[in-house]
Amino acid sequence: MTTPVRDGAAPPIADRQAALRARAAALFPGGVSSPVRAFRAVGRAPVVLERGAGAYVWDADGRRLLDLVGAWGPAILGHGDPAVVEAVREAALSGFALGATHPLEIELGERILAAMPSLERLRFTSSGTEAAMSAVRLARAATGRDLVVKFAGAYHGHSDGLLVEAGSGVATLAIPGSAGVPADVASLTIVLPFNDPTALTLAFAEHAGRIAGVIVEPVVANVGVIPPEPGFLEALREVTRADGAILIFDEVITGFRVGPGGAQARYGVRPDLTVLGKIIGGGMPIGAYGGRSDLMGLVAPEGPVYQAGTLSGHPLSMAAGIATLDRLTPERYLDLESVAADLAERLAAAAAAADRTVAVSHVGSLLTVFFRSAAPIDAAEALTADRSAYARFFGAMLDHDVLLPPSQFEAWFLSFAHGPAEIETIAAAAVAAFRA
Ligand code: PMP
Repeated sequence: MTTPVRDGAAPPIADRQAALRARAAALFPGGVSSPVRAFRAVGRAPVVLERGAGAYVWDADGRRLLDLVGAWGPAILGHGDPAVVEAVREAALSGFALGATHPLEIELGERILAAMPSLERLRFTSSGTEAAMSAVRLARAATGRDLVVKFAGAYHGHSDGLLVEAGSGVATLAIPGSAGVPADVASLTIVLPFNDPTALTLAFAEHAGRIAGVIVEPVVANVGVIPPEPGFLEALREVTRADGAILIFDEVITGFRVGPGGAQARYGVRPDLTVLGKIIGGGMPIGAYGGRSDLMGLVAPEGPVYQAGTLSGHPLSMAAGIATLDRLTPERYLDLESVAADLAERLAAAAAAADRTVAVSHVGSLLTVFFRSAAPIDAAEALTADRSAYARFFGAMLDHDVLLPPSQFEAWFLSFAHGPAEIETIAAAAVAAFRA
């Protein structure tokens, strides 16, 4: 399916995308500004995307693709939502970063606090990476302890101490952590299997009084989607409280995604600190961390924990975030969830009809088709999925103009713009792709 890049624009130059790719390859490592965009895990030439509207994106040759990447999470309203565009345009008319507190910053902060009661105060950053790094620093300062627990396959951005057995891009590229991370830094991070309360209890027994905090994606979304088993998040809460460690929920993906109050509302577990990003910026650069007021009081200039950012609280990000959150009503989440459940069912049926063994995991509008027989409960299981089968499936879907995440280990993100027609298109493409 080919659509002009813009109505009235000159017709696309054939293979403009290939020429752009070549120029990008000369400029950027792997031709990209973030590794997963290089499509290495699916053995295809990466797309160069130029425009998005609703559930669709257009590549630089003007080809329209039904998008399930969703900008890796922020695009819950679909691309280029008119209300968000207007809010950003209006904010831009007053200048960009002004280097001081801005009224829009206060407005967005108040909206986030109203939706997530565990956040009594917060601080904006420019990315999720910064927010997660800062939350860990805060946990260490508050407890006077150095060790941090994370879970295998979870991704919390690319700060040194958290880049240990991280998921998604790291899993895809099979890099064990990253070169350049000092062993001394990595040795302060304890990596445990997700959904394993026994391993958790044993780690806290072994390191009693030495663990500053536990950082967790309450729904793992960076080795594909893995929901918490009943009782696991509660166990995290209990064990950390008993030991005086800080519980940090990384809701960069799940915040405002799995429901208005994030995973903490969905599962009824209150963390001490929360890390946010993606949706709260409506597609503009953002991150945030917040939580207990006494902990946030340790952050500079009120307290001794330093953290700062030239572009933090950027008015355009704030404007996009406010316009986005204003459109997220509980009813719309329910609608989106039933669309996702419908898609999950139809994908499972399409696979069964083609005699393919897959397991479809989904939480809210996050979804993964695992090429293995059962839905995984942790990263070790997820990593046994058949990546080459996924790569072939990805390619066949792309040939049907459906853009999936270019890795078995990245979640599919649905948006309010994915209606019955889009679900029908995806399901029909999947029937053909599973056969292929
Ligand atoms: N935490 C989680 C759970 C994430 O998924 C990501 C990014 N995908 C991050 C943190 C880092 O966010 P950013 O890319 O904005 O630095």
